[in-house]
Parts: sequence; C-alpha cells; structure tokens
Amino acid sequence: MEDCNMESLYERCMKVMPPVVKRATTMGVTKGEGCYLWSEDGRKILDFASGVAVCNLGHNHPKVVDAAEKQMKELIHGGHNVVYYESYVRLAERLVELTGGDTMVYFSNSGAEANEGAIKLAKYVTKRPGIIAFRGSFHGRTLATTSLTSSSSAYRKNYEGLLPSVYFAEYPYLYRTPYEMKDGKCPKEYFEQFENIFHTLIDPSMVAAIMMEPVQGEGGYIVPDKEFVQYVREICDKYGILLIFDEVQSGMGRTGKLFAYEHFGVKPDILTSAKGIANGFPLSAVIGKKEIMEQWPAGAHGGTFGGNPVACAAANAVLDELTDGGMLDNAAKMGDYFKEKLFALQKKYPSVIGDVRGLGLMLAMEMVHPDKTPDADITTAIRTKALEKGLLLLGCGTNHNIVRFIAPTIVTEKEIDIAINIIDECLKELTE
Ligand code: PMP
Repeated sequence: MEDCNMESLYERCMKVMPPVVKRATTMGVTKGEGCYLWSEDGRKILDFASGVAVCNLGHNHPKVVDAAEKQMKELIHGGHNVVYYESYVRLAERLVELTGGDTMVYFSNSGAEANEGAIKLAKYVTKRPGIIAFRGSFHGRTLATTSLTSSSSAYRKNYEGLLPSVYFAEYPYLYRTPYEMKDGKCPKEYFEQFENIFHTLIDPSMVAAIMMEPVQGEGGYIVPDKEFVQYVREICDKYGILLIFDEVQSGMGRTGKLFAYEHFGVKPDILTSAKGIANGFPLSAVIGKKEIMEQWPAGAHGGTFGGNPVACAAANAVLDELTDGGMLDNAAKMGDYFKEKLFALQKKYPSVIGDVRGLGLMLAMEMVHPDKTPDADITTAIRTKALEKGLLLLGCGTNHNIVRFIAPTIVTEKEIDIAINIIDECLKELTE
C-alpha cells in the first residue's frame, strides 16, 4: 500500500484505467478553491481551464457547497422517473423564466446526454430522420452525438457506421475562410451551401433539426457571423426544421450572458445546457419551446439520475450568483479586459499569434507559423510551459493550434494579469 502511494495519481491511474483516460495534463490535484487548484506536489495553480468550462463560479464556491450540503441532508436521490422534488422543479421554473417563459425543461446528466435527448426530441416531434451539423462541431461522445461531431476524425475512428442521415454544413470560420471576404462581411458561399445541401444531399422536408454551437468550442472557439446565425434561423423557419443550439460549453455565463444565443438575436427551438450549469455536479438540461416539449409524451425518453436533487440545488445556487450575484456582468467586464490584454500580446508577437477571438470569458488565441499555417507545436509548448509556471490552460481546434482561456466568471483583473504575464514569458522564451 505504502509503495503504491509513492506513485503519482497519474501513474496509479494508468495501472487501473485504459489509455483513453489520458488527457490534457498528467497533474494530480488535491484541492480546489476559487480560481485555483492545488497539485498533489503542493503547487498552487491558476486554473484557466475550469474543468473545461464547468466550474464557471470557480472551484468549491461556498454558496454552491452550502446549497449542496443542505440538499444532501434532506434528499440525495429521489429519481425523476419516480417522484418530484423541490430543487428540481424550482430549477426548471427558473430556467423557463430565464429563457423567455415559453419553454419547458428536461434534465439529464451530461452534455452528450442532453444532446441525445435533443436529437431524439427533434426526430420524435418532426417524424423526420435528417440532422444537419457543422464542420468543426463537438456534441459529445455517445454514438449519436459522435455522429454529429466533426472537430476531429479521432473522435469517429473505428466507430464509423454511425447515425444515418447526418450531413455537415460549413461553419463560418472567417479567419481561415477560403472564400473572398468583402467589407468584412461573411462570404455568400456560407449561405449558398445550405441550399446546396438541400439540392444535392437531403430534401429539407426530411430534415428534423440543425444542431449548432452558437460559439464553436472544441473546434476552436470560433464566433460565427451574426447574419449567418440569423440565416440559419430563417432556413429552419422556411422548412419547418428545428434549430438546436448546443450551449453545453458556451452557456451558463461563459460568454458574459446566460446563453450565447443572446449575442446573436436568435432563439433556438431547443437548447442544451450542461457543464457550468451546476458548477461541477453532473447535470444537463434540454430546454425547448413549450409547444415542442408538450409533444414529448411520458415514456418516450428518460433516465435514472437526471435532475439529481443535489445537482439541482447546486444549479439553483449557480443561477443566484450569475444573475443576482453579478457574475454575468463580471464575466462580460473581465472578458473585455482579458481580450484587450490578448490583443496587446498579439501586437507583441504578431508572427505567432494569428488571431485573438471570443465572447466574454470564452477566449482564445490561434497560433500560427509566419505563413499563417497552424502551429500545433507552439500551442503545446505554451501550455506545457504555462503549467510549469503555475497556469493551467487547454488547447482546442481541428488543427490543435488554439490556446483557449476558460477563466471562471469570478476572475479578477489581478488573476488575468498573472495569466497574461505567464503567457508573455512563455511566448518570449519560445520565440527568442
Ligand atoms: N457539446 C459541447 C459544445 C461540448 O463542448 C461538450 C464537451 N466538451 C459536449 C457537448 C459534451 O459534454 P459532456 O462531456 O458533458 O458529455
């Protein structure tokens, strides 16, 4: 036993878990508080990964801890297949109110599970088979959500033979567009391609839903053109297709608004939320227009753990902090501050930082070679060096060349300055 404890958590993990659990770092952690994690070797690490956009209020937020603790003493599990309970109903009531009052909510446990639910709901209600997703998308790791995921072929390899009738449209990734851009406007080709899908691949009357991340996450923190998002809404209205926004990563305050769709003036028919919704407890939600949700009858979908009382109590505390606690405003304000600092870094290192982009605290810099080709090596090197210097960062992007910054909404200018200084040092060392 003692020998075993000499090993790191990572080494012990590798003995009992398959390599599929290998991820961004080999760091073991013992504690989290606010914007910081403590590594098993006693280092205090500034965490700008937030468990991949989960701990949007920082680690172990006291109000979340209190709410969960109180709920745990009353009821840990009721089973939403069996009974109803206050934290679950209250959370749904609040989410309905916050999404305009004309919605209904179904709870599950993870982002992928919410997206599965949304896909099933769209198929159930429209009685159509087709789904259109986007190039660069990430919707989860279950078979149906893998079918709609195209940010890396590694996610699909050896799993092919996925859900049929899935088609991919171009996402307007304007930094790398092959089309001509006039006056900074989204090229017309992105609009035309939809009609092309309908002319060549599937008749629109056979399409149940278009599933879209309003800001693409794993694909590279890409903010789409507003007009394009509005056009997708129009396409849906024209053909009776349901618009599903996957807000698993972009939602719950990440972009400085509760949901990213608010930036585009476009409402989806169905929205999925997870990750940050309960600040670390497994919870997700399908939030759909009332007239659609009302057509989903008892027995058509379900699950044992969805809407767990403790997770829902935590989520109610999250909503309190984001709205009344002012954290949405802080995310917007700190996001602007952070982005300005990143633009300043781009000015300092123009040959390697090709692009700085994002909304609120969903920010990224795209790393390039001087000829603008993607530079995955420097991206990895920045992340490795930054962690050595006490800052945890993640990468993303189809070409693995995006450094993403997922600071919690409680972040202060001081912590952003610390992070910027570390990134500056890393870039200095790497470009010298
Ligand atoms: N959708 C998006 C946009 C995501 O970013 C993710 C996770 N990275 C998922 C779905 C899947 O969520 P989960 O891992 O909770 O299943």
